[in-house]
Amino acid sequence: MTKPLVAITGASSGIGEATAKAFSAAGHPLLLMARRLDRMEALGLPNTLCKQVDVRDRASIANAVSDAEQQYGPVDCLFNNAGVARLADIGEQDPEEWDETIDINIKGVMNALHPFIQGMKQRKTGTIVNMSSIAGRKVYPDHTVYCGSKYFVHAVSESLRGYLAPHDVRVIVISPGIIETEVLDHVTDPNTLKAYKDNKVRIGGGISADHVADMILFAYQMPQNVLIQEMVVTPTRQEY
Ligand code: NDP
Repeated sequence: MTKPLVAITGASSGIGEATAKAFSAAGHPLLLMARRLDRMEALGLPNTLCKQVDVRDRASIANAVSDAEQQYGPVDCLFNNAGVARLADIGEQDPEEWDETIDINIKGVMNALHPFIQGMKQRKTGTIVNMSSIAGRKVYPDHTVYCGSKYFVHAVSESLRGYLAPHDVRVIVISPGIIETEVLDHVTDPNTLKAYKDNKVRIGGGISADHVADMILFAYQMPQNVLIQEMVVTPTRQEY
C-alpha cells in the first residue's frame, strides 16, 4: 500500500459516496463514516474501513480514526462532508430543525476536524476539504439556518487555512450549487421543497456528484505546495 489514507464523512450517499469511489479508483485506502453502515459497505471498495459514525458524537469519530490509522497509517486527507439541508420558511420552521442543522453542519464539522488538526500540523503535511455550499457564499430567504451553517464553514476554513499554512497543510473549501443527491429528502416544508424543485427543473436539473468528486481528487492530487483554496461549482444554468 503506497497511497495514504483518506477519511470521508457522509460517505453513505451523494457527494461523499462519489468521492469515496473516486479516491478508491485512484488507489487510496479509505475510512468511510456515516450513520448508514449498510450503504457504505455495499460500495464494496477495497482497503476500506466503514464505520457507523454520527458526526454529533466526537468520541465515535476519534475511535473510527484511531482504528483506521492503526491499519493504514495516518490520514493524509479529510473530506469533511457530512451535512443536512433542512431548508424551510424560517417563520414556520420547527426550531428542532435549527438545532439539528447546527449540531450536524456546525458542531459536526468541528468534531470531524478535531482528530486531524494537531497530527497534520506535526507531520507538516495533509489536506482538509471542508464542504460548504453556494449557500455559504450568498444567502437565500428559505435557507436561513442552512446558510448560517455554511457561512460558518467558510469562516472556519479561512481561519484554519491561516493557522495551518505555515505547516504546509492545505485547507480547501468547496461550494457546490445544485447537485443530484439525496440532500432534499429531509426537507419537510412542502412549499420550500416545491420552489427548489421548480427552480431545478427551470435550469435543466442539477449536476452529477461525480463532477464534484473529480474536482476534489484533482485539488488533492496537485503538489502539496499548490493550494486550490476554494472551488465553486454549479450547473451552468444556475445563475444564482
Ligand atoms: P446526501 O443527503 O446524499 O448525503 C449526506 C451525507 O451526510 C450522507 O452520507 C449522510 O449519511 C451524512 N450525514 C448526515 N447527517 C449525518 C450525521 N449526523 N452523522 C454522520 N453523517 C451524516 O447529500 P449530499 O451528498 O448532497 O450532501 C453532502 C454535503 O454536500 C452536505 O454537507 C451538503 O450540505 C453539501 N451540499 C450539497 C449540495 C447539493 O445540491 N446536493 C449543494 C451544496 C452543498 P447518513 O444519513 O448515513 O448518516
